[in-house]
Amino acid sequence: MLVLDQLVMDFSGFRAVNGCSFSVAEGSITGLIGPNGAGKTTLFNLIAGAMPPTAGKITFRGEDVTRLSSDALFHKGLVRTFQIPHEFDRLSALENLMMVPPEQPGESLVSNWLSWGKVRKAEQEVERKAYETLAFLELTHIAHERAGNLSGGQKKLLELGRTMMTDAKLVLLDEPAAGVNRTLLRKLEQKIEILNKERGYTFILIEHDMEMIEKLCDPVVCMAEGKVLIEGGFQTVRSDPRVLEAYLGESVEA
Ligand code: ADP
Ligand code: MG
Repeated sequence: MLVLDQLVMDFSGFRAVNGCSFSVAEGSITGLIGPNGAGKTTLFNLIAGAMPPTAGKITFRGEDVTRLSSDALFHKGLVRTFQIPHEFDRLSALENLMMVPPEQPGESLVSNWLSWGKVRKAEQEVERKAYETLAFLELTHIAHERAGNLSGGQKKLLELGRTMMTDAKLVLLDEPAAGVNRTLLRKLEQKIEILNKERGYTFILIEHDMEMIEKLCDPVVCMAEGKVLIEGGFQTVRSDPRVLEAYLGESVEA
């Protein structure tokens, strides 16, 4: 589904991504691990079109998408979750979901004038989908709660829900477990698994929580110093001495 070929990203002389290559199979949950500073988040930024790579090529579903904008990629089904922006804190959970869908006819003033009925219908459809998403996430009880009042875990679930409002094919999750309590963490894992198995979402998951990686991910790719150190099954990667060394290097520096 996704092929990364020798990606490089330079930040004014510093090479954050240094010849990174790997592939993501359709239907997989691919885990991306590695010590802090390995370049994982930067790699996500490249894949999602937040910035163009210095060099290398990205192919998504057979198409060269290396220099496409995040907006263009979004419409192709490549979606990255973001923290709910502060401006959305005052909106309810339901409204946060309803803000997501692209290409709503209501967005154009002209179409508002000309086809009020069509706009109304599209809005109702979006609302229905938002309620369905909240039900899937077991968040119906907080539908009208302000997003700003939700717990860390509920926010993460809602962020996952925002991807469900789109026609997502490949979803990039950057440390979804960070700051989430145990109970909601299990729920988050379970929802990711269902989205993968039953709704056909492919995921790339960056996570430091190794329990979550072990439970959900195959294969696991370990990055260090901007490139792939090793990839394979969780047990293979975990028991590789180079992986341990990469993480030890991190703590020595710290
Ligand atoms: P990870 O997510 O694996 O912890 P990052 O991709 O966030 O790693 O960072 C990789 C390296 O690139 C780090 O040394 C970081 O300081 C650097 N870096 C990331 N973004 C920028 C930027 N916008 N400008 C300069 N350096 C950056
Ligand atoms: Mg990161």
